[in-house]
Amino acid sequence: MAIFGQVKVKNGQYKLKGDFHTIAPSLPIRNEDEGWRLMGVTNPRSITHIHMYGGEAAFFEALGQGRILGTRCDNPACEHPGTVYLPFRIHCPDCLGRNSVIDLTDVVRRTARVHTFMVCERSGAFNTLDKPIKFINVEFEGVATILMSYLVAGEPEIGLAVTPIFKTINPTYTITDLAFVAQGTTAAQLPMDYTFGV
Ligand SMILES: [Zn+2]
Repeated sequence: MAIFGQVKVKNGQYKLKGDFHTIAPSLPIRNEDEGWRLMGVTNPRSITHIHMYGGEAAFFEALGQGRILGTRCDNPACEHPGTVYLPFRIHCPDCLGRNSVIDLTDVVRRTARVHTFMVCERSGAFNTLDKPIKFINVEFEGVATILMSYLVAGEPEIGLAVTPIFKTINPTYTITDLAFVAQGTTAAQLPMDYTFGV
């Protein structure tokens, strides 16, 4: 039986297990207007990408633990030292130095507000979010950047105070482990597997 391709790193090397390629039958492409003559075949392809997070891995690990990590430039020689970034920036865009990783969970809980938003009635391929999707850009006190996420409960409006929720049960280790709800939302209103974190 086929099993999903799995990857681990040991002794500095990728160790692969399972199926990374699957074979599926080709089907004929025929021309209905010309007596169903053969014109070609479909070539089904299914592949597994090995997507490494590099320096951002800590951010995705923390989401599943109910925490939000950002970064800060601590280079005293930088033109703008102390600038805080969320989304997580590995390097400072001003001095190109390596940023420090900082825990912003409390800042996000206390100060998250909707900067702007858009509501999408349609989605792209493989959408797993409920429609309409309420995309929000979230701003935080003392943070230089705004974060793209989506609102699960409540109606978006500019300035709305929002609270982060996390997929701490069965995390996916992707950005959808993080979402937001309007302040005042109760734990019973959260989608399955999401919590307010710790
Ligand atoms: Zn800097």
